[in-house]
Amino acid sequence: MNGYTNGYTNGHTNGHTNGHTRECNFYEKNDVKEFLDSIHQLILDKALNDGTKNDHKVVEFLHPKEMLNKLQLDIGEKGTNNEVLLKFCEKLINMSVKTGKPGFYNQLYGFVDPYGLAGSWITDSLNTALHTYEVSPAFTMIEHYLIQKVCKMIGFQNGDGMFCPGGAFMNIMSIHLARFRNDNNIKKQGMYNQERMVVFASEGCHYSSVLAVGFLGIGQENLIKVKTDSKGKMSVKHLQNAVELSLKQGLNPIAVVATAGTTVLGAFDPLNEIADVCAQHNMWLHVDAAWGGFVLMSKKHRYRMAGVERVDSLAWNFHKMGNAPMQCSLLVVKEKGILEKCNSTNVEYLFQSDKYYDKTFDQGNKTIQCGKKVDNFKLWLMWKARGDAGMAAKMDRVMELSQYLVDQLRAQDDFRLVLPEFEYSNICFWYIPPSLENQEETEEWWQKLSKVGPKIKERMVSEGTLMVGYQPLPSMNKVNFFRFVLCQENCEESDLDFIIEEIRRFGKDLQF
Ligand SMILES: *Cc1c(COP(=O)(O)O)cnc(C)c1O
Repeated sequence: MNGYTNGYTNGHTNGHTNGHTRECNFYEKNDVKEFLDSIHQLILDKALNDGTKNDHKVVEFLHPKEMLNKLQLDIGEKGTNNEVLLKFCEKLINMSVKTGKPGFYNQLYGFVDPYGLAGSWITDSLNTALHTYEVSPAFTMIEHYLIQKVCKMIGFQNGDGMFCPGGAFMNIMSIHLARFRNDNNIKKQGMYNQERMVVFASEGCHYSSVLAVGFLGIGQENLIKVKTDSKGKMSVKHLQNAVELSLKQGLNPIAVVATAGTTVLGAFDPLNEIADVCAQHNMWLHVDAAWGGFVLMSKKHRYRMAGVERVDSLAWNFHKMGNAPMQCSLLVVKEKGILEKCNSTNVEYLFQSDKYYDKTFDQGNKTIQCGKKVDNFKLWLMWKARGDAGMAAKMDRVMELSQYLVDQLRAQDDFRLVLPEFEYSNICFWYIPPSLENQEETEEWWQKLSKVGPKIKERMVSEGTLMVGYQPLPSMNKVNFFRFVLCQENCEESDLDFIIEEIRRFGKDLQF
């Protein structure tokens, strides 16, 4: 009848003999099953159903102090009953941003895939780590299956990989691998006796590449930013020049980080041409496809990553375009064994050399984490539910909707696109309020225009109907513009029309 509670308490009381009376078992006094059933219903109703409804309420914004007051977070001496806990959980859901609603276009994620969520629930319920086959036998095989599936999509014959805690981590790991391949003495000897190393990435690269070289001790000044062209793609001519210059200066160029889907413009760096430069100078080529990797799912759109089979490593966030529960980040590498060679320590209390099973599947020796969250099953379950065709259809639909928005924006006199065309679902544009229309576009005019984004954003969030981000792009000499990002399918053309109307409503009276 009350399986969960019985199972739980029996397990606990049997496990503890002395000094543990049944009365002091917390779960005895609280009805765990009732609590979980109620939480389940609450999630379905409030987070999933209401949280994806198109009622134009994405956020109830409060400033941090007001938030703290309203939350009432104190944990006291005494415990708390289910009813109070449930009320708190409901309040928390109400006070959270609803990334699953049409109206949330603020970041490169949003909306949770329900099958992915179910996978996540199962994973969390079993509460295990992925470091060894011993404690995660089924999940270990799922991880390997997905690594091989993605390797096949890319064209890696004998690749390897692992799920990682996020895109920034994958970029750090990839540069770490590049440095190890350059000279594997580094593992034991560190940076002593090394020539000064340099890494190249485009001006549009994600900031985690900067973070990575700083973290790894290569130094942030040794990440050389390569100029981008008018579409925001890495200029290969500039890359070639920068590499040659670094050699003349006696530096050691070890890696290029290409980006597939830049964070702001959604630009794809030309992998084939970059791979030529890397081959010529024996540099590691990492592609940061955290955001853009999903094009690989679609026959129609994957040409953007032509040459991907030539890279040494690829980082792909399924929690962005894929809508998998956060985090779901897969790093794949071309050279089997390098992850292990670079990171293994073979400690005997976890990776015993005399294990009773085939330990070639153990994932823990490949990374710098000890406990490793199981991030694979949520992806497997949603991919299995949709099939390859379902994943492709998702990509195609998102691209179709993005193109719709581009066409609509182009037709408005008071909106202006930052680029004539976009390669992905980041659509960047300015809104020009009537007070700034039909004026000479001087430096001063652009300075005024740069104030439009932050003003409208404030109004958006205080009404809570829409969330679209804004930022300047100094490398391309652009002042603050809106960046709309689409990664969910529960959005229709009319939702995109609403963005235009809403931004106009918020901005039309702005004076400078
Ligand atoms: C989001 C993003 C990252 C960072 O990924 P996290 O999972 O947020 O750490 C890295 N690179 C690119 C291009 C991204 O868009």
